[in-house]
Amino acid sequence: MPGLEPHEHHRICVCVRKRPLNERETIMQDLDIITIVSDHTVVVHESKQKLDLTRYLENQTFCFDHAFDDTASNERVYRFTAQPLVESIFRQGMATCFAYGQTGSGKTHTMGGAFFGRAQDCSKGIYALVARDVFLLLKNSTYEQLDLKVYGTFFEIYGGKVYDLLNWKKKLQILEDGKQQIQVVGLQEEEVHCTEEVMSLVELGNRCRTSGQTSVNVHSSRSHAVFQIILKSRGKLHGKFSLIDLAGNERGADTVKANRKRQLEGAEINKSLLALKECIRALGHHTSHTPFRASKLTQVLRDSFIGQNSSTCMIATISPGMTSCENTLNTLRYANRVKEL
Ligand code: ADP
Ligand code: MG
Repeated sequence: MPGLEPHEHHRICVCVRKRPLNERETIMQDLDIITIVSDHTVVVHESKQKLDLTRYLENQTFCFDHAFDDTASNERVYRFTAQPLVESIFRQGMATCFAYGQTGSGKTHTMGGAFFGRAQDCSKGIYALVARDVFLLLKNSTYEQLDLKVYGTFFEIYGGKVYDLLNWKKKLQILEDGKQQIQVVGLQEEEVHCTEEVMSLVELGNRCRTSGQTSVNVHSSRSHAVFQIILKSRGKLHGKFSLIDLAGNERGADTVKANRKRQLEGAEINKSLLALKECIRALGHHTSHTPFRASKLTQVLRDSFIGQNSSTCMIATISPGMTSCENTLNTLRYANRVKEL
């Protein structure tokens, strides 16, 4: 498969993706303060003020495994992030791909494709692209003898609780058995035979996710959505790819004046994103202690983090506008910490 080279030897790959200025930002004459100067480097031109009130730009540079500018397609982002991990799940691996960033920066566009965003093009997202390659590899003679079956699960973590998106948002319990295996009890696993069936599941789950909500983005920005493609060989778990559209990482203004419910949501999100960072960092350090229990998100993903054959990629999505500068810098700093081993 093309794209297998980029990080064959790394188990963690961290990338950044800039989206184009949107219509609202353009109308409001928001300035584009992000330059992708190379395939690996992003520069933020932060506007600062001197004591005499004159303004100047301060450049901050960040390096990643890959940096995508606003012309990059989902297909291209996929090729350097999730695609190199797909084959590992056929070799009993656990792969995980996260989209991390502020609300409106392009997480769902990246994962779900234009299908879920309001973009005019109809490019596929990472869910569909992973599914496409899984079904392609399934036909490969090397794997045919394993008698593999493919299943999809889709759940949401909101306020520290897990809800099954393929089963009317049924609240699910998490069990940890003696062997430190985590089980999401009763999680619906649907067998799938082609990409179209995978996308039907995604669509079903998404409808379930937002039913009864006033706004799609208000709700989805407060919860983590976990879509998994599972391979089973003769009924036993063989490999798993978890694709995660994380809750928006923004803090500040909206939580200060927010009501108590929003504040609690925000605190829960911060806690889980912090735990996630610590767990991924621990992965790279091969330490014995990884703080999985610190949040539901990391607890649920535990089996994807441990083990010899696990690999992770993170796509940090950023908005280009000056009005998003603070959130963008927070996103880049977080991604930087995840990357540093
Ligand atoms: P998030 O899930 O992070 O809140 P979305 O994926 O919903 O953000 O993106 C917000 C808006 O920006 C959507 O209308 C989406 O279609 C658009 N968008 C995001 N990323 C891109 C991109 N790379 N190219 C074009 N449009 C994009
Ligand atoms: Mg979203």
